[in-house]
Amino acid sequence: MTQLLQNWISRAAQQRPEAVAVIMQDQSLTYGQLEESANRLARLLQAAGCRRGDRVCFAIPKSPAAIISIAGILKADCIHVPIDTSSPAPRISKIIRSSEPRYILGVESSSGLLEELFAQGEFNDSVGVGWMETSPAEHRNFRAKFHWADRNSYSAEPLESSQCAADPAHILFTSGSTGEPKGVVITHANVIHFVEWAARYFGITGSDRVSCHPPLHFDLSVFDIFGAFAAGAQLHLVPPKVALLPNKLAEFIRASELTQWFSVPSVLNYMAKFDVVKMNDFPALRRLLWCGEVFPTPALMYWMKRLPHVTFTNLYGPTETTIASSYYTVKSCPADGAQAIPIGTACEGEELLVLDNDQRPTPVGEVGDLYIRGAGLSPGYWRNPTATAASFFSYGEGERIYRTGDLARIGQDGLIYFVGRLDTQIKSRGYRIELGEIETALHDMPELKECAVVALPTDGFETSLICCAYVARDQGVTPPGIRSQLSKVLPPYMVPSHWMVLPQLPNNGNGKIDRRKIRELFAIELKTSRAAERGQDRNSAPSSAETFQSADSMGSSSQPKNVVSFR
Ligand code: AMP
Repeated sequence: MTQLLQNWISRAAQQRPEAVAVIMQDQSLTYGQLEESANRLARLLQAAGCRRGDRVCFAIPKSPAAIISIAGILKADCIHVPIDTSSPAPRISKIIRSSEPRYILGVESSSGLLEELFAQGEFNDSVGVGWMETSPAEHRNFRAKFHWADRNSYSAEPLESSQCAADPAHILFTSGSTGEPKGVVITHANVIHFVEWAARYFGITGSDRVSCHPPLHFDLSVFDIFGAFAAGAQLHLVPPKVALLPNKLAEFIRASELTQWFSVPSVLNYMAKFDVVKMNDFPALRRLLWCGEVFPTPALMYWMKRLPHVTFTNLYGPTETTIASSYYTVKSCPADGAQAIPIGTACEGEELLVLDNDQRPTPVGEVGDLYIRGAGLSPGYWRNPTATAASFFSYGEGERIYRTGDLARIGQDGLIYFVGRLDTQIKSRGYRIELGEIETALHDMPELKECAVVALPTDGFETSLICCAYVARDQGVTPPGIRSQLSKVLPPYMVPSHWMVLPQLPNNGNGKIDRRKIRELFAIELKTSRAAERGQDRNSAPSSAETFQSADSMGSSSQPKNVVSFR
């Protein structure tokens, strides 16, 4: 049988139909129930016109219904496209326009978003809505073409698939520097290769209880879901409302008796800051994995000291090369907080290369561009040959290679160390953000003459603070006003938290905006405002600039709470 992601669910359902597959609060699904529901949904989708390779978006927050949707879409031979339901409709419209789905699956909590998407009429003829809820959708301002209950008319028996492993399984849209989100196409084979390696390396079995912390549009969730299903393990969905509460997360790991935890380091760092982990806590936990950004060594030391029974592994890799391409299992608790943790060595079937400008390997210790080749490489960006050609190249005989945009060096120990980024892609709160996407949205605002968005590192939860300096056309334009307009087109995590109004933006010698200078200005202002907050520097009155800080460090999209004026 062709290897396809959904086959893992069928296999587990055959072997242990009563075993729990998915659990979230008081809802759970056995493998047998998941298989049957997904088979029925797949038949329903096919009867509703879905054919091999059609895209089906799902605007369903993390829940057992979302997992059934993923499985059903795959079983219908279609490609699933997760939608971030916290993103505003104009940004989601770009994803719908690009992915051209046959259907969007929605639920009550995404109905407002769906109404906005369909209000303009652009998608009404081309995209249908499937309502994955038992409550009716009739009163909504969109007409659902089918409802959750309709699946009961279809057989729960397994379906024949016409797909092959090289077919796309999903498209994950990431921030794009030109303002258009980029769709990374990931095939069944890409995921299967990583999951099979990871299941072997980590020894995941049917008795594992695996976390699913990230939202489903993050590629880390792909490993949680299919890593668990490949082993017939339990997938524990972390409810979005506890996902950023350190105490509740610790309670969740304890109460669910998780054996594997996988998240971005921001979350682990935040839990360490709030000191929510006790000595020898989480006795069932065997593995703690992170990916997506640097895990500060002091926070890693905090975790390792408290959990001597746990194995700690750093996974590295961009969405474009599928979940992770390298790994490093930390041998013992670092003695020194300044010690760098390597991103390690390539996962099986992958290769990481550190190359100079002429694409020659750099000598040990020298920083170069990090490239990846191997089985995880995406076929490219969805219907975007320009972006694909800019990042995916031929290398060697018939091989493709992906330029990550990361800088790295090979250490004396032969391991690879992450050094930073070449460009203006950043991580904030674990989200991958192109500062260019934020600037493009700001450039669309006629009340701004000029603007620049920069990021400043922080040891807080965000990892990077997003800061915007701008020149307004008139004095009535205020940061809260701009911020609120920006919130209508960008998701909350992309909206800058710090603002500076300047009479003009600094330029460097060749007339370009001097971003380094802007970063310096923000760094000075932030240092001063922090000192003032601590009451140490009450009388310092800085520059002609005005900065405004929003205090929503845990990701709320609220208006700035602290408006600090320096005028
Ligand atoms: P994403 O596509 O969201 O997974 O983001 C990929 C980027 O995150 C990489 O190109 C790196 O810049 C960064 N990244 C991923 N994993 C790590 C890691 N373990 N350590 C440092 N940076 C990482």
